[in-house]
Amino acid sequence: MFIDYTKVELTAGNGGAGAVSFRREKYIPKGGPDGGDGGRGGHIIFQADSNLHTLQDVRYRKLYRAENGAKGAGARKTGRNGTDVIVPVPIGTLIKGAGEADIVADLVAEKQQVIVCRGGDGGRGNTHFKSSTRQAPQKAQPGKPGESGSFEIELKVLADVGLVGLPNAGKSTLLARLSAARPKIADYPFTTLEPHLGIVKYNEYQSFVMADIPGLIEGASAGKGLGHQFLKHVERNKVLLYLIDCADEDPRATFQTLQQEVLQFNPDLALKPILICRSKMDLEKDNIHPWQDFDQEVLPISAVSGSGLNELISKITGLLRENN
Ligand code: GDP
Ligand code: MG
Repeated sequence: MFIDYTKVELTAGNGGAGAVSFRREKYIPKGGPDGGDGGRGGHIIFQADSNLHTLQDVRYRKLYRAENGAKGAGARKTGRNGTDVIVPVPIGTLIKGAGEADIVADLVAEKQQVIVCRGGDGGRGNTHFKSSTRQAPQKAQPGKPGESGSFEIELKVLADVGLVGLPNAGKSTLLARLSAARPKIADYPFTTLEPHLGIVKYNEYQSFVMADIPGLIEGASAGKGLGHQFLKHVERNKVLLYLIDCADEDPRATFQTLQQEVLQFNPDLALKPILICRSKMDLEKDNIHPWQDFDQEVLPISAVSGSGLNELISKITGLLRENN
């Protein structure tokens, strides 16, 4: 499971003060109290939005403050409520009180809302404080303060496409090329110790989520190396994309090793649609290691030159449509 995480500081609006006011009308010398109530402070509301896939916007913003309620006024006028702040977050977002284990909200359905910080109630105006002994109350309530606090926001992301390949196969590079994600890329194995996610945009408004998971090594399904932890991620992907270096001397054996690891972990994964890519094709010189003996099509790609990437995206989106 991929975790996107951030902390935020939220401050709801304070309630407006109630008014102290007395009716002043012609021919009524001593009008009664007519001070209206203050308005409620704005709430901070989180709302699930299916167009979002990460907590990027929230992480960038970090501070949210809602407007205070307005003061009450004479003639029993209630002050205006402070405008609520609505924070859109992806479906699946979990909100926790910082430092505590308690979960404030788990947004699981489109447009579901939760008030995370409640705006303070407005104070009551002096109309409420009239009694037989007190005909002209000078008293009105102040508004209540809005709730505030630090919260932890957490998102468990399900990727659509999981990249499976040996260390150095070019997974991180491909993810960086196709999305705005910037995973670490280096010339040695195990550069990716935790999975990275990227949103791959295509056709202007559509997108899918691709996950770069740590390099698969032999014996991973038996609990060696980084094995188990990241194979769990693979379980949740809709499409598995096997990436094999074009310089690999025995691509068929590599593919079998990778696939075996995945299937040993969970045989159900055999039901998932897969794609096989030959990576780093810009380095391929004279086609030294021909790849004939694959049962299924192998797509040649280069994350560096960009060749084959459009075809790859349309294959992926085709599979995602078919398997939705
Ligand atoms: P990962 O371990 O599978 O994530 O592999 P990386 O993306 O970190 O890449 C390993 C090495 O291969 C890095 O030095 C990359 O620059 C290089 N590499 C990745 N993709 C390509 C490619 O398409 N062409 C070339 N020439 N080099 C690549
Ligand atoms: Mg990597």
